[in-house]
Order: sequence, then structure tokens, then C-alpha cells
Amino acid sequence: MRLLITGAAGFIGSRFVDMVRRQHQVSTSTVTLLDNLNYSGTLQNLFEFEKLKYEMVRGDICDSSLVSKLVETADLIIHFAAETHVDRSIKQPANFVITNVLGTQVLLDAVRENPKVKFIHVSTDEVYGSIAEGAWDENQPLDPNSPYSASKAASDLIALSYARTYNLDICVTRSCNNYGSNQHPEKLIPLFITNLIEGKKLPLYGDGKNVREWIHVEDNCRAIWEVAMHGKKSEIYNIGSGVEKSNLEITKLILDEFGLGEEMIDFVPDRLNHDYRYSLDTTKIRSELSFSPQWDFEEGIRSTINWYRDNPMWWQPLKNL
Ligand code: NAD
Repeated sequence: MRLLITGAAGFIGSRFVDMVRRQHQVSTSTVTLLDNLNYSGTLQNLFEFEKLKYEMVRGDICDSSLVSKLVETADLIIHFAAETHVDRSIKQPANFVITNVLGTQVLLDAVRENPKVKFIHVSTDEVYGSIAEGAWDENQPLDPNSPYSASKAASDLIALSYARTYNLDICVTRSCNNYGSNQHPEKLIPLFITNLIEGKKLPLYGDGKNVREWIHVEDNCRAIWEVAMHGKKSEIYNIGSGVEKSNLEITKLILDEFGLGEEMIDFVPDRLNHDYRYSLDTTKIRSELSFSPQWDFEEGIRSTINWYRDNPMWWQPLKNL
């Protein structure tokens, strides 16, 4: 199998590459990694794979001639590359539309020229909007609120339109919030962990009552692999854990692990139009692909804290950019 992974130097992409390597699929695969190494992608996430001779291509998914060449020699594409930080999307939406919408469309055009390729479009629960009670299944109409989630929703719809119009083998995954090692320190959990390591306070938006569902990145990667192997054409798969936590609960859990109290919290003005709650109904992936997450949340947080404690050389340069 010839695998092309976009956004491979980022948080989830690099953990996916690690999983592929560990599962020995590498012995029967050639693996090409495509990433433009923007601020959130770093070769440090990939250096341990150098000896595997994966081909790392530094390039932009919007570059149609590069993308066509790479797609021509692939059987399976896992598309992680995206602009991903909601706060950045509120400040500078244009990059989000360019990479997430146009970049995805460039890849899909190349798949259209190579219709035997299977394409997994990695998306997010944020496309559904915000839900006060209950949970979304895959048939929920999209109602995104931030420029980030709107650009992801647009790319999901374009991917599905290519699947239906050109009869291409495309699946969409929508996962809840991921946590784990190698996540850029601007995101909530790594920001709070690294702030505490540095003796700084934790800037918590609003009253901290916004609720998110959390999955360990390794569980999400396993689910994406299941979709790549067994997902049906044109289908969407929600990927969740059922673990819902308010931002305040996460903050207290991290503080507890450091033996610190709530005096370390600095409540700051809320994000504009901050979604209140996300929650996924994951019946489909559990019943059709027999997927269930394996990580316990508190154990996962402890192992994430330990990783950031052990790897200041990884996060300090990113935090000080
Ligand atoms: P990330 O920001 O850590 O990684 C994104 C990667 O894409 C980076 O390596 C970056 O350099 C690369 N990239 C950005 N623009 C590019 C371009 N134009 N061309 C080539 N490469 C480019 O993000 P992540 O958290 O790993 O997210 C990966 C995917 O998963 C995204 O599509 C995101 O929407 C989705 N997702 C993330 C989460 C989460 O909690 N992190 C949850 C659900 C879905």
C-alpha cells in the first residue's frame, strides 16, 4: 500500500505516522508525508521516524502540481493538513479558507484524476455547532459558528460532493477534541500544563463552563485507521469517547496533578461567540466498525503531563515563537 499523509508534522498527523510505524504496516507500505511546516507543524514530531526512510515533502496542499504528482503514486490518502486554531481563525480567517477549503479541493481534484485512490478527510465535531443537551449523530445538519469550523464544514461538504458526483472512495471523520503528546502549546491542555511547569497562571475563558468531549489522540488515530480500512464510500463517521468535561473541570484536574489550587486560575474575557457544548453520538462507528476508545481520561491526562515535563526542548521553542 502507498500511503500519503497530509499535515503529518502536526499533532494528530504525527501520532498517526507513529501508529502506522508501530503497527508494522510500514513493512508493506511506502509512506509519503506532506506538510508545509507552518507554525504548528514541526519536524521534531517526525525525527524519530527518519530511519524508516519515509519520504518527507515540504510543500503546500494548495500547490496543485506538487499535489497531483504525489496523489498519482498513492493508494490511500489521510488528509490532516489544516489551519486548526479557533482563536487564530477569529483573528485571521482568510488563511483558514485558503488551506482548509481550497487546499482540500486541490487534493480532491487530484483524486478525481486518480479515482482508485481512497481519501479520508479528517474533520471535527465543531462543524455541528453547539448543543445544549443530547448528542449529534452524523445526520445532524451542519451549523458551524467560528471561521475555523465553517471552513472545516465547507471542506466536508466539498469532499462529500466529490464522492457523490465523481463516485470517489471518500470518507469523512468527525472527532471530538484530542489530547496527548506533541500538541502545540497554544491549545488548552498543553498551554495549561506548560504554564504550570513555567510557574505561570492559567488564562481560562469566561466562567470555564464550556463543555467539550475529549479523546486521546491514539484512540482517534486507531479510529481513523479503521475508517481507512473498512469505512464505506461517502460515509461520515463521528469519533468520540463519551468523556465530557467543562474547561473548568479540566483545569482543576491539571492543577490537582501539580498539587496546586484554584488561585492559579486567571479568568479572562470569553472567546467571541464561544460554543457552549459539543457532544457526539458514536453509535455508528461503534456498531459498524467495532471501534471503542481504550484510554482512561485521567490516566491519559497524567501521561500527557509527564510527556510535557519530560520534553521541554520540544515545547519551549514553539511557545516562545
Ligand atoms: P495541527 O495544527 O497540529 O497540525 C496541522 C498540520 O497541517 C501542521 O503540521 C501544519 O504545518 C500542516 N499544514 C497547515 N497548512 C498546510 C498547508 N497549506 N499545506 C500543507 N500542510 C499544512 O492540527 P491537528 O490538531 O493535528 O489537526 C489535524 C486535523 O484534525 C485537522 O484537519 C483538524 O481540523 C482535525 N481535528 C483536530 C482536532 C483536535 O482536537 N486537535 C479535533 C478534531 C479534528
